[in-house]
Amino acid sequence: MATTGKCLCGAIEVTLNKNPKELVACYCTSCQKASGGAASFNIIMEDDACDVSRGVTKFFKETADSGADLERHFCGDCGSPIYSVTTSYSGMKILKAALFSEEKNMHVVTNIWIDSAPEWAAPHQGVPSHGKSRS
Ligand SMILES: [Zn+2]
Ligand SMILES: [Zn+2]
Repeated sequence: MATTGKCLCGAIEVTLNKNPKELVACYCTSCQKASGGAASFNIIMEDDACDVSRGVTKFFKETADSGADLERHFCGDCGSPIYSVTTSYSGMKILKAALFSEEKNMHVVTNIWIDSAPEWAAPHQGVPSHGKSRS
């Protein structure tokens, strides 16, 4: 079923053509800075399954901890992270879970970059954890 998520101020909306379920928790230092927390929680979806259906994002280009090129798209009005695109997941968008705060059935399936998690993080237990990226 299609579902729509939005940023804090509502200027940006993202529509998915299926309900998000699986989240990848990323504890890389870049995600920590960009999210303001211990990790980012991400829905990885094919480009043609998701669409920015309202507003236009701003983006910041950087090099990810993996060395891949990364664009972090965010709302220029409220600063909420919206999605990332990276050369290591070409053809995909890495959408931020909290856009879809109305969704009921999302759960963390994998932790990545756990080696750089801050001391005060509480990573999910009982799911595969990778010190760096999954590959
Ligand atoms: Zn916003
Ligand atoms: Zn990350």
